[in-house]
Amino acid sequence: MTTRTTGNAISEVAEFLKTLDRVAITTHVGADGDAIGASSALLRLMRTLGAEAVFCHAEEIPNYLQWLIPDALRELPLDHDLLVVDTSRSDRAGVEIPNSGARLNLDHHEDNPFYAEFNLVKPRAAASAEIVAELYTELGVALDKSSAEAIYTGVRTDTGGFRFRNISPEVHELVAELLRAGVVPAEVDDRINRTGTIQQLNIVGATLANAIQYGDAIIATVDKDDYERTGGTELDSKESIDALRTVSGVDVVAHLREVPQGTKGSLRSETVDVGEIARRFGGGGHKLAAGYTRPGMRPDEARKELLENLEGVVNLRDVR
Ligand code: AMP
Ligand code: MN
Ligand code: MN
Repeated sequence: MTTRTTGNAISEVAEFLKTLDRVAITTHVGADGDAIGASSALLRLMRTLGAEAVFCHAEEIPNYLQWLIPDALRELPLDHDLLVVDTSRSDRAGVEIPNSGARLNLDHHEDNPFYAEFNLVKPRAAASAEIVAELYTELGVALDKSSAEAIYTGVRTDTGGFRFRNISPEVHELVAELLRAGVVPAEVDDRINRTGTIQQLNIVGATLANAIQYGDAIIATVDKDDYERTGGTELDSKESIDALRTVSGVDVVAHLREVPQGTKGSLRSETVDVGEIARRFGGGGHKLAAGYTRPGMRPDEARKELLENLEGVVNLRDVR
């Protein structure tokens, strides 16, 4: 039964998963470590339960995450039940959701509108991978090293390496369990953080050099000239967002990058509800980490618009 206001209990979802024979798993566009880590762990769980399970996504999996799902498909196969992971809005899923709808929506974004038949949405979870770990426990499926590495990758990336405000005691208890199942953090770190190129390093450098401080906010824009000069891409550039947060006294940081359709914005804060600001621009996300896309808008225009919307939210005195 569809429950669109309260979501489903984990026991109901566990029972439902046992009934499935052929599943396709997808995640949000612009997949991150949690998107792929949680999908990989769910894929392994479904196979352990005896289902035929595939991962499908119209976009290529980022290089540093390909080891988690080496056999991804680009299209949704026919006759598979669709399970969508870490995706708050159905229009941001990696494949178009068929008219019959998604069967499961497993996510931790508070703005998730329960768009599937079964909705396992836990905003208190630090990562969607943490919710997948709960399903392993609920179903009595033991974690092997590969599934534990997938969950570890999701939790590690969505907590900024165990530094953000979404950390709970449960996260660290889970990590202890993952290490007991065979995860070696340094091995995962090598695979996800030491696979860069000089082009990626240079686009991050260019983005940081473009950062401007407006009082308690910092905005870094990056455009196609920067991509051409460095050989880096817009997603490579986004790696700079955590470095923007290192400036003392700053409440909101924004990364505005040119993409083919316009500008994509990423917002981060420790105190301000940037999810609310992202929603004003048609985006969404978490309170302290949110994003949006502005079709047809250049990064410098998006910066102006963002500054107008930050007026009265943070102190913007221009101290450049
Ligand atoms: P990002 O800045 O892309 O890392 O995204 C931060 C958070 O905001 C993630 O949890 C995303 O799911 C969410 N988000 C990013 N872009 C959008 C968008 N265009 N619409 C809705 N949510 C978004
Ligand atoms: Mn994600
Ligand atoms: Mn996530």
